[in-house]
Amino acid sequence: MASERIVIVGAGPAGVRAAETLVAAGVRPTVLDEAAASGGQIYRRQPAELRRRYGELYGFEAGKARRLHDAFDGLRGRIDYRPDCLVWNLEGKHLQVLHAGAPGTVPFDRLILATGAVERVLPFEGWTLPGVYTLGGAQVALKSQACAVGRRTVFLGCGPLLPYVAYQYARAGADVVAVLDTAPRTAKWRALPDLLTGGATALKGVYYLAWLRAHGVPYPHGVTPVRAQGDQAVEGFRYQDARGRERSLDCDAISFGYGLKSELQLADLAGCRCRFESTSHGWVLDLDSSGRTSVPGIYAAGDGAAIRGAEAAELSGERAARALLGDLGFAGQDAALAKLQRRLRRLDNLRAALETAFPYPRHLARAIPDSEIVCRCEMVSAGEIRSAVRDLGADDINRTKAFCRVGMGRCQGRICEPAAAEIVAAALERELAEVGRFRAQAPVKPVPIAALAEKRPEALAS
Ligand SMILES: Cc1cc2nc3c(=O)[nH]c(=O)nc-3n(C[C@H](O)[C@H](O)[C@H](O)COP(=O)(O)OP(=O)(O)OC[C@H]3O[C@@H](n4cnc5c(N)ncnc54)[C@H](O)[C@@H]3O)c2cc1C
Repeated sequence: MASERIVIVGAGPAGVRAAETLVAAGVRPTVLDEAAASGGQIYRRQPAELRRRYGELYGFEAGKARRLHDAFDGLRGRIDYRPDCLVWNLEGKHLQVLHAGAPGTVPFDRLILATGAVERVLPFEGWTLPGVYTLGGAQVALKSQACAVGRRTVFLGCGPLLPYVAYQYARAGADVVAVLDTAPRTAKWRALPDLLTGGATALKGVYYLAWLRAHGVPYPHGVTPVRAQGDQAVEGFRYQDARGRERSLDCDAISFGYGLKSELQLADLAGCRCRFESTSHGWVLDLDSSGRTSVPGIYAAGDGAAIRGAEAAELSGERAARALLGDLGFAGQDAALAKLQRRLRRLDNLRAALETAFPYPRHLARAIPDSEIVCRCEMVSAGEIRSAVRDLGADDINRTKAFCRVGMGRCQGRICEPAAAEIVAAALERELAEVGRFRAQAPVKPVPIAALAEKRPEALAS
């Protein structure tokens, strides 16, 4: 047992709490994260040269951010932490990594995957113009670089990040031209009773909406994106309002997104079972009630297993670590596990309410014009995807990929999968769950060709 090599991928809220729980039991895990510092997405740290206070950076979440950072910093010396370490492949019990630019291999006996989420993107006409960013990209610019993506930004999409990032921009002094929500206004009212059971989390959402309203930021609901305008870069945005009238906005940046999806590639490479979750309209890991995947010795936590938010990520990180400790024979995990499971079930209810308030606009994917690029790595248009189904007989997303190269490029379909799968499902007149998802392939994220050419080097000693 003492010689078991335990590795955690991800030092966001889930990975940090998993590491903390293992250390408290006397175990020394290896923690790998491609980022330069711990904190993950929500509690992303600013570069050392910037000196903004916690309140400025994290708003209402400042206390939680500080606690998480302090907890991780307090583990120094008791974990083997490797920042700037991208895990790009998993084969058997080995992770292939690019650590500070050098290729290497990290062996493990037990693995906790806490890899977080990626944004769901649905292309619209002109979305490849310079000046179009995802909501997360716009937020990273603000949090990490203290700059805005444009002088006059339009925010578009659906999901809790939409009002939040717009609020962060407006609060920081940026010009927020409008927040265009694709969900009908009635969706939020319908979800309100269930949202209010979410306590402080829901109240914060109400606050962001009220703040934007009080500061005169237009926030129309039920909009349909039409196109980003401009020749060389974004100069404006056209959309249809809830009554179908076309409107134009002057702007030099557009920030958009439609919620999140789990980063499943490493779990996929390990052969972990996934399932389709109809509430979020996406794929999640099929875990037992303690965070074990279907592959013995591999556990998962946080948004990388299912999108449940930061609080659930912390709880599920601890849960995965306790399940692992229990499997190693550490006694006394059951009571804590039962408590964590109860708290996580309550957060499941809040997530269901959020999905009602911010319904995923699948109809937008189905309506993407034939001429529009969906997979920008391989420059595959919506029309080519439809043609692979109609003319070449592709009957699922992977056959479609083989026929037209959608999802075959550098991002491995992480960006285009939601739209491509929806287009395939519509062309086949099937449900999304029936067309499947892209099979993961290494490298899960872009790496220099030299990393692939390298013969597997000696395992990095811990
Ligand atoms: C762009 C973006 C912005 C977000 N902003 C907010 C927000 O402002 N407020 C909010 O409540 N929620 C936000 N969320 C959701 C939020 O990230 C989560 O709810 C919470 O951070 C989940 O914690 P986690 O530990 O599961 O994942 P994360 O916090 O995402 O941490 C995952 C970690 O894993 C690392 N990682 C992933 N893959 C690899 C790999 N292959 N190799 C090495 N390291 C890897 C990442 O670098 C990251 O540090 C955001 C999500 C995204 C994608």
